[in-house]
Amino acid sequence: MKLRSLTIKKATEGLKQKKFSSVELTKACLEKIKKLNPTLNAFISVCEEEALKDARKADKAMQNGNTSPLLGIPIALKDLFLTKGIRTTAGSKVLENYVPPFDATVVKKLKDAGAVIIGKTNCDAWAHGSSGENSDFGPTKNPWNTDYVPGGSSSGSAVAVASDMCTASTGTDTGGSIRLPASFCNVVGLKPTYGRVSRYGIVAMASSLDSIGHFTKTVEDAALLLSITAGNDSMDATTPQKQVPDYPKSLNRKPRELMLGIPKEYFLTGIDPEIKELTTKALSVLRVSNYHTQEISLPHTEYANACYYIIQPAEVSSNLARYDGIRYGFRRETFGDEAKRRIMLGTYTLSSGYYDAYYKKAMKVRTLITRDFDEAFKIVDAIIAPVSPTPAWKIGEKIDDPLKMYLSDIFTVTANLAGIPGLSIPIGFTKNGLPVGIQILGPQFAEETLFEIGKAFEEATQNETWRKRKP
Ligand code: GLN
Repeated sequence: MKLRSLTIKKATEGLKQKKFSSVELTKACLEKIKKLNPTLNAFISVCEEEALKDARKADKAMQNGNTSPLLGIPIALKDLFLTKGIRTTAGSKVLENYVPPFDATVVKKLKDAGAVIIGKTNCDAWAHGSSGENSDFGPTKNPWNTDYVPGGSSSGSAVAVASDMCTASTGTDTGGSIRLPASFCNVVGLKPTYGRVSRYGIVAMASSLDSIGHFTKTVEDAALLLSITAGNDSMDATTPQKQVPDYPKSLNRKPRELMLGIPKEYFLTGIDPEIKELTTKALSVLRVSNYHTQEISLPHTEYANACYYIIQPAEVSSNLARYDGIRYGFRRETFGDEAKRRIMLGTYTLSSGYYDAYYKKAMKVRTLITRDFDEAFKIVDAIIAPVSPTPAWKIGEKIDDPLKMYLSDIFTVTANLAGIPGLSIPIGFTKNGLPVGIQILGPQFAEETLFEIGKAFEEATQNETWRKRKP
């Protein structure tokens, strides 16, 4: 097994047993970045010098008996995460030269756990997008077929993990930006419960929807990372004083019999036949592994996209007001088309005379969508659904038609509106060789259940040939 392909768990074991050093592991990832980044454009900044310095430090700490959970592990950060002394662009030319004076809480936690920060990944500017094409630093490409999009907005983070440029990476999910690229790139993506992970020091998109999560090669690694990043933060009032479970440990518990809900609205019009077929196959695997399934209804799903595309731009227009060229960044002309579109739309729906008709109505619909989930979770433990109605599409295919692009978010925005967690896991490939994932949704703070189901699926499919594929 190549060093750069290792999971966090395997890499940590190898480091502890002195089979290799963090410097060797980090160099293996850096080599891959050098080789593939000119084509895939997954990184905006590569921190070669800093990473090697941190790797050397980690190796020394290891010799001195330090057992921090991420000691020496190369991790990439979406370029929305503020990093002290390292340029942070949010994928936008507005912040092209911004070097933050502090680390985001999550970055600090990862560093404290011993992680080696290998670089800052490409993303749609301000996290606005579903394809990775809205970045002012050029589109990210899908490693499985470079004519296709990798999914957005956390495009580079998903690509970096899928193509072994790092061991794990971070992302943000406001309406699907972790789950969608995870499913398009064949990696595990976690969008935790709203507030589970601090947003402090992460460039805000839509503050009532933003969730901070990550990409990993396995569900077990996702559980480990969340146990490090989650928790109350005095700098973010939306993080509750709720104890953080030992997620990796809970994965060793005896498997439970659980009831999984299949929302009928997610299988209606517009869903690609191959997505339906692969999802149905995944459900039959889950049925064999201890789980029962039951059809459920989330009746307000059809209004989710309309609701999201009112609330989200409203919050975007408010958050982007600070980039006025006086306090941060360049002048407002530097904003790209998508950011301008959202600022205009949001300003409009919040203006007097239109507020009641749009924003207030959308907030009411949001409550109905949340209630749909509350009702469902009275009868099921988790929900299984496709991540997206279609597999990845060709670069350029939807970029000139924003409404068509927004439709790809139809199955993901609901979890953000309701503040519930979602775990995207790989389930196979289309005949064209493009990866497909499903999402496991659960009640707020039920991440342990999602990990349990995700891991059971991984175990049940571990010998299938598609698991061995590499981009
Ligand atoms: N694709 C959605 C949007 O464009 C979600 C983005 C995100 O989750 N950051 O708004």
